[in-house]
Amino acid sequence: MNLRIPGPTPCPPEVLDAMSRPMINHRGREFADLIQRVTERLKTCFQTSNDLLLLPSSGTGGMEAAVVNTLSPGDCVVSASIGVFGDRFAGIAEAYGAKVVRVGYELGKAADPAALSQVLADHPEAKAVLLTHNETSTGVTNDLKSLAQVCREHGKLTLVDAVSSLGSIPLAVDEWGLDVVVTASQKGWMAPPGVAMVSMSQRAWQAHAEARMPRFYFDLARARDSLKNGQTPWTPVVSVLFALDVALDAMLAEGMDNVFARHQRVGQMTRDGVRDLGLELFADPAYASNTVTCVKAPQGVEVRQLLRLLIDEYNVELAGGQGPLAGKTFRIGHLGWVDEADIQGTLDALKAALPRVGYSPTRASA
Ligand SMILES: *Cc1c(COP(=O)(O)O)cnc(C)c1O
Repeated sequence: MNLRIPGPTPCPPEVLDAMSRPMINHRGREFADLIQRVTERLKTCFQTSNDLLLLPSSGTGGMEAAVVNTLSPGDCVVSASIGVFGDRFAGIAEAYGAKVVRVGYELGKAADPAALSQVLADHPEAKAVLLTHNETSTGVTNDLKSLAQVCREHGKLTLVDAVSSLGSIPLAVDEWGLDVVVTASQKGWMAPPGVAMVSMSQRAWQAHAEARMPRFYFDLARARDSLKNGQTPWTPVVSVLFALDVALDAMLAEGMDNVFARHQRVGQMTRDGVRDLGLELFADPAYASNTVTCVKAPQGVEVRQLLRLLIDEYNVELAGGQGPLAGKTFRIGHLGWVDEADIQGTLDALKAALPRVGYSPTRASA
């Protein structure tokens, strides 16, 4: 199956092989070497010298960790959400008692730094800003650097969901002054799901010292203290860490600049190919993502029927629309282990399948 969803993403064979290694003692020397090696190399990818902690969870657990380790119930938090995943981040903060102020957005557009600045000026009491680097539901990549700069100017902590961008799209944690940054193994990292990665700045640790939201399993101070001894506070996802170690070998051998350039190429190729089929992109072209492309369902085409046909007869699996975009869009994932041939195969399959579910290009443009 050509699995073209925005995570879990396909894994190279040597990464999958690593998953079948025998278990090791998670309090032993081999594990200490493993976690220290993986952590150090991830810091290179995050472009940071901040602490970086690995948690046994999917990306959402990392987002929850970002919230509960820096905030207190009753804190005002500004959400710059531009879609489903941004709304999820805001929902986590609300679940733990934060007062969330939303900037507001039009689906398919990037967050506007000027609008964020206005909201922050109106809410001087805000403690932190929830930002999404790449909104996977709409296929939009925010100008994170500019948004973070606005947050810095207003003296706010930045909590960043970079789950579907880090490792695929350039992001410089230290240079951009990002406080807490989250990603997860099953997106751009070519590894199976199970490990969330979270970086914490000095400012974030200061916030941690005062933060009163309840936390235990995801207390990042416990993770930081254990890491000093080459351990994790609780049993880690050993097999996924084996896999991530091998995936990082491949990414760093390719070179991160080459990894970013490859994502740029396949992103552009996907957008061009989709437009050549007469289909319309959902995202504002100026902010279209290089890891996921969201496509408007053409008139008269049932998304469910199209996706089913692609799976059953063309061996290609795409993702449907999310939230308010369910039934109205579909999405092509192109992050992690992906090259031009994967995209060409996807585009060829779409070209063959679309007319079979009632699509004619003239109707699309009408
Ligand atoms: C995948 C994803 C997440 C995390 O989802 P999990 O299923 O918990 O890993 C969060 N934010 C974005 C933008 C994502 O793409």
